[in-house]
Amino acid sequence: MNTKDTVGFIGLGIMGQPMSLNLIKAGFPLVAYNRTRSKAEALAKEGARVASSPREVAQQASTVIVMVSDSPDVEQIVLGKDGVVEGVQSGSVVIDMSTISPAVTRRIGARLAEVGAHMLDAPVSGSSWAAADGTLSIMVGGETEVFQRSLPVFEAMGKRIIHIGPGGMGQVAKLVNQVIVAGTLAAVCEGLLLGAKAGVDLDKVFQAVTGGAANSWQLENLGSRILKRDFDPGFAVKLMLKDQRLINEASQEMELPMPVSAVARQFFYLLGQRGLGEEGTQSYIKGLEEMAGVVVRGISD
Ligand code: NAP
Repeated sequence: MNTKDTVGFIGLGIMGQPMSLNLIKAGFPLVAYNRTRSKAEALAKEGARVASSPREVAQQASTVIVMVSDSPDVEQIVLGKDGVVEGVQSGSVVIDMSTISPAVTRRIGARLAEVGAHMLDAPVSGSSWAAADGTLSIMVGGETEVFQRSLPVFEAMGKRIIHIGPGGMGQVAKLVNQVIVAGTLAAVCEGLLLGAKAGVDLDKVFQAVTGGAANSWQLENLGSRILKRDFDPGFAVKLMLKDQRLINEASQEMELPMPVSAVARQFFYLLGQRGLGEEGTQSYIKGLEEMAGVVVRGISD
């Protein structure tokens, strides 16, 4: 696509805000919509036009990106009243970068095809920090030609951009990602819990272990925050609860044994019940701390 074509962006949350800013920095004229309009103000200052509905975004842009929370939200934005489908031009591409159900993705894609528009599912990994510096990993489902045409848009937001397969397969890849994320986080937290109970200097353990075979994104980025008792969200517990539901649905459909995921899910339920939905997923440690009667912190927090 010509880099001068207008891109539409719907959903300016923790992820959408920095992603849309990177599109502006890459030279794309941007038209944006957010349900809570005040969140679009920062973007307007950077030159974005602010639309008053998803329909209006679709009327003004040949590529429309959606970055909202859950499957019903994407359905409402694309297929609902004043939705994208009411304004989308024939030949336009709708790119859903939210993490939602593969089945819902395919249903939305089929409806868009009826009006001559294309859909790509392109969920991301890398958290809000990667969204800010444009280094997201993007896993894409949909037609190859549409994927290739959309590459300049993806390259403004991400570093590793992989066409996984047909429609819905980007979302399947993201579920794989989330199974690994949750299991790794669970192991990171249990390791730190053991260290805390044994009275070891966890800052030194962190330094040693991140240099060896147990290192991971979760340990480096969330383990370090746990040691500083920083529970601000990069990725909020409430969104992980949604992803846990999607993983559970998939494993039930396929009757797959996934014992580690089942246990990790219980802990996220616990965090939800404790009212910690707005905190980052590193709050997983709080469930363990409650059971063990131990607080996990570094010396220099
Ligand atoms: P967030 O900060 O909670 O933002 C959600 C956005 O969606 C807000 O702009 C919200 O509008 C909008 N929204 C939700 N429901 C809506 C509806 N029914 N109609 C219109 N707008 C609606 O979430 P986020 O962290 O940016 O995550 C967005 C997506 O990316 C999620 O699917 C998440 O799982 C995925 N993801 C997140 C991360 C991460 O690290 N945060 C990483 C990878 C993937 P309002 O402002 O009006 O509430």
